Amino acid sequence: MKILIEDITDEGLEVEVDEEAALFEPSLKGSPFSIEESVKGALTVRRFESLIDVSGSIRATVKAECSRCLKSFEVAVECDISSRFVKGAAKGDGGETQLRKGDMDITYLTGEELDTHEVVAEQILLELPYKPICTEGCKGLCSICGSNLNDGACKCEPHEDIDRRFAKLKGFKVK
Ligand SMILES: [Zn+2]
Ligand SMILES: [Zn+2]
Repeated sequence: MKILIEDITDEGLEVEVDEEAALFEPSLKGSPFSIEESVKGALTVRRFESLIDVSGSIRATVKAECSRCLKSFEVAVECDISSRFVKGAAKGDGGETQLRKGDMDITYLTGEELDTHEVVAEQILLELPYKPICTEGCKGLCSICGSNLNDGACKCEPHEDIDRRFAKLKGFKVK
C-alpha cells in the first residue's frame, strides 16, 4: 500500500496490512522461498517533519525448499517492524534534519510516497534463513543416487568415507 507522505501526521496513521501473496513474487524470485497466502498485520505510520517512523507487526506463512533434501516445508514468520525513513536524498546538506549518526538505520525516500509493501517485504526477507533446512537433523540427499536419506539409508557405499572425512574436518575447527 502506498501512502502519500503528506498525509502522514505525528499522531500516526493506522495501516492494516493485507498484502496479496502475488505481490511478493518479485522479491522472492530466485530464492528458495515462496508466499502463497496473503500477509497480514498492522502498522502505525508516524511522521515528524521529514522523519517517518513505521512500527507494527506482521505475520506470513512462507513456503521454503529445504537446502539439503529439497523437500518443501512451511515457515511461519511473525515479526515486529520498526523502520525509519527520511524524506529526501541520501547525500547533500540534509536540510533541517537533525540525525545522530549510527543510532539507527534510516532509509531515504526519494518520492512523495511511502510504500508499506516494501517495508513488509524487506522485513520478511530479513527473517528468513539464508539456507533453510526442514528439520535440524535433515540428512539431505545421497550425492550418488539422489535418494532422500531421511527416508532411510540407500545402498550406495561411500557414506562411511564421507563420515570419516567429516570427523577429520571437525578436528580442524577453530573455536
Ligand atoms: Zn530437509
Ligand atoms: Zn545413494
